[in-house]
Amino acid sequence: MSRIGALFLLLTLQQVATATSTLFPPSNASTAAAARLACHQLETTLSSSIVQTNGTEYESAATDAWNLQNTVFRPTCIVFPRVAGHVQVAMKAIFDAGSHYAVQAGGHSAMQGWNTVQDGVLIVFSEMKIASYDPVRDSITLEPGIRWVDAIAAVEAFGVAPAGGRLGDIGTGLLLGGGLSYLAASQGYSADTFMEVDVVLVNGELVTATATNKYSDLFRALKGGGNRFGIVTRYELQAIHTGTEEDSEWFGGLILYNSSAEAILNATARYTREVNDPKAALLISMSIQIIDGVGSPVYLATPFYNGPALPEDIFGEFLSIPAMVSQLGPLSYSGVAETLGLGDQRGLTQHFGASALLGDDSLFLDAFNHWTNFTTTYQDNFNSTTLAFTPITELQIQAGRNKGGNIINAPHGGFAAVQIYQTFNPGVVDIPANVQDGINLLFKQIPPSPGLPLYLNECDEEQEVFKSYGDYELMREIYVKYDPTKYNVNHMRGPLGLE
Ligand SMILES: Cc1cc2nc3c(=O)[nH]c(=O)nc-3n(C[C@H](O)[C@H](O)[C@H](O)COP(=O)(O)OP(=O)(O)OC[C@H]3O[C@@H](n4cnc5c(N)ncnc54)[C@H](O)[C@@H]3O)c2cc1C
Repeated sequence: MSRIGALFLLLTLQQVATATSTLFPPSNASTAAAARLACHQLETTLSSSIVQTNGTEYESAATDAWNLQNTVFRPTCIVFPRVAGHVQVAMKAIFDAGSHYAVQAGGHSAMQGWNTVQDGVLIVFSEMKIASYDPVRDSITLEPGIRWVDAIAAVEAFGVAPAGGRLGDIGTGLLLGGGLSYLAASQGYSADTFMEVDVVLVNGELVTATATNKYSDLFRALKGGGNRFGIVTRYELQAIHTGTEEDSEWFGGLILYNSSAEAILNATARYTREVNDPKAALLISMSIQIIDGVGSPVYLATPFYNGPALPEDIFGEFLSIPAMVSQLGPLSYSGVAETLGLGDQRGLTQHFGASALLGDDSLFLDAFNHWTNFTTTYQDNFNSTTLAFTPITELQIQAGRNKGGNIINAPHGGFAAVQIYQTFNPGVVDIPANVQDGINLLFKQIPPSPGLPLYLNECDEEQEVFKSYGDYELMREIYVKYDPTKYNVNHMRGPLGLE
């Protein structure tokens, strides 16, 4: 190992104590003993390739998470299940021992400790990655370890795709937070396409939840409930008929701007208020890239239309703003999903926060101005900062309701999910307290418009996302039904609101 590498490792290991000491549930001697007990039990019942306490595969799984903060934890053991039965055995041992635990699929949580654990058992789905298409049920079945790039590739020849995410390296944990894809306007949140979900409950029982069986309440809660309701071992999703690679039924791509922020924001606000077309999709990302202390704006639009061209009345404003780069053309759905790349870079501390806006142009501009001031004040800490907008249309909300509804239960009327996102400088593990204060102030300056839900997958871990859901009270009832001792809340990091 190089000297810099050794120093970096030392630094990160020193940070473990700091990184974990502030976390709830706390890690201490008794939680460490419970984890050892669970791991010992698992080592005697499962093979040594499934349960590991050290070695190359252990290390690479422990350090693979996207956010650097989630790579400094060292789980007492890591379970690599091959089948749902292994997850059942693991969950039962964890529960019986009273151990902390965590689950990791694609590893892209920005939230500290949501996909890894110190002094606990980590379940990693890297050995469960199969995707298949069933033409009779017209459904796509995914094992939880697959990433969207592979899931889309596996079924594209059948002319179908799962509603997943917009970057390839992200995993299926996205579904449990809702899921925003380029198919959302016609399909709802990605989780709205659930047909069946196999879940290992906190006591180790494996159940299949559907919209109509006796687990229909659990089924609804999984569409937005994150990691709180159980461990999913199989997702069956409606197949969306997006065309084969040759069909190229889509049009769109990438537009990059380095100025005209106000025009882009006005166009975004208008799109959010007015556009309601099931074939249209848009993501707007306003970023500042900081190199040697100098910030450069990179504003990005990804307009897509499931048709031969971008309709002028929907995208005309974005197309008329002078751009640095404009790469637009016919695309297959896999081409659409590859437009922003994989998002697989690792090694830096990442932080997300969420808001949700609906209103006139000035609301979006105000948010941008606060974010710009924040960026300028703290920019020495950052590699980049981003303020991103995903319009969520009335049609998307209606599509979810037509499919039985989700626990997010957003109100009628479209809005924009707003992501407030910072990437820190290399070597930074803990977010400096003054920067976190600045982030918290920014959340107050860009509050969600009344009644709108925050997006779980893009939140800060202290934000009360569940409380912003339309069905929060129902969610609480469902939670205590399936986890009466509140084991998950007390033994696993995750969203607040079910304590
Ligand atoms: C670069 C990037 C791009 C993104 N793009 C999008 C996007 O286009 N659309 C969108 O909606 N979101 C997007 N996100 C946010 C993304 O949805 C979340 O980060 C999501 O949680 C990632 O899922 P994962 O499986 O990769 O991560 P993980 O960290 O492995 O899992 C996320 C959470 O789900 C839990 N979990 C995972 N699998 C299971 C399971 N089988 N059972 C129970 N709990 C489980 C984990 O414990 C964790 O709390 C993006 C994030 C990044 C970093």
